[in-house]
Amino acid sequence: MNDTKPVQKYQQKIASLKVQLLRLDRMRPGSLSRQYNVCGKPGCRCKDPQKPKRHGPYYQLNYVFRGKKKSQYIRAVDVVTVRAELANFKKFRRLTDQWVGLALQRADWELKSKA
Ligand SMILES: [Zn+2]
Repeated sequence: MNDTKPVQKYQQKIASLKVQLLRLDRMRPGSLSRQYNVCGKPGCRCKDPQKPKRHGPYYQLNYVFRGKKKSQYIRAVDVVTVRAELANFKKFRRLTDQWVGLALQRADWELKSKA
């Protein structure tokens, strides 16, 4: 019987996911949104009746970690860094999801092959 083949296939795919996971470094969960605000100062440009010019952009990061919702402002100079971290987290999630999928297939295959 040559039943080790599928297991090897799963192992190889999982090994390649691990390599990609090791390459990930900085990451953070969440999403970044851009906002323009109106302030409370009387006569401010943001409340100009003809051509209001709102303040901003402000970048707000929202995320949930361990069940807690968090929100923080991100400085414009940090937006590029934060976007890269957010992208890395998405990649992390995608890779671990694939890993779990393969692990399930492999485990089920092994259960069936022993029956
Ligand atoms: Zn204003």
